Amino acid sequence: MHLIPTQEEVIALFRESYALRDGHFVYPSGLHSNEYLQVPLALRRYQHQRLLSVGLGRLLRGNPEIRAMMPELSIVAPATAGLPVAYGVCESIRAKQVYWAEREHDNEPLRFRQYLSPEPGEQVVLVDDILRTGSKLSELKKLLESAGASVVGLAVIVYQPAPKIADFGDLPFYYLVKLDATFSADAEQCELCKRGVLAVQVRF
Ligand SMILES: [Zn+2]
Repeated sequence: MHLIPTQEEVIALFRESYALRDGHFVYPSGLHSNEYLQVPLALRRYQHQRLLSVGLGRLLRGNPEIRAMMPELSIVAPATAGLPVAYGVCESIRAKQVYWAEREHDNEPLRFRQYLSPEPGEQVVLVDDILRTGSKLSELKKLLESAGASVVGLAVIVYQPAPKIADFGDLPFYYLVKLDATFSADAEQCELCKRGVLAVQVRF
């Protein structure tokens, strides 16, 4: 394995841990896809978590502006699924702290735990396991910025772009692997539905 794992190495690791599956999947958003990735399955192995988050940390280190901020940097995840990556990145780049947002119930806005609020001027890298639509990361970015924090980068293990992705402007964006899944807006436009392939409803 390379110090920054290659696309092929990461995909092999996902296949080996059954995190990456081929088939016919329906996402909670209603999108149909031929591919499903559940990164936490791969992160069950501590070695995998280390390899992937250290690799991602190395990518961040390659940005001189981010490198200069590292001792004061906050690593913030939009949900608990991003935490193994966030702590791994924090350790690998010796950043200052990790915290995360969550929502108690669906349809509620993201928020931080009681007594936890970003400091004005705090420099933050957003970290998650995967970016698909980017909607949660975009909500997190707004939440941080509304508290006066400054978001300086975005880093995920996997970039699996959905047809519509949140706009992050020119924010530096890092990922280890890009997966080109086929997405269809609904059953009517889905080739797999037309062919009668059994669909699996996925929860995340
Ligand atoms: Zn379908």
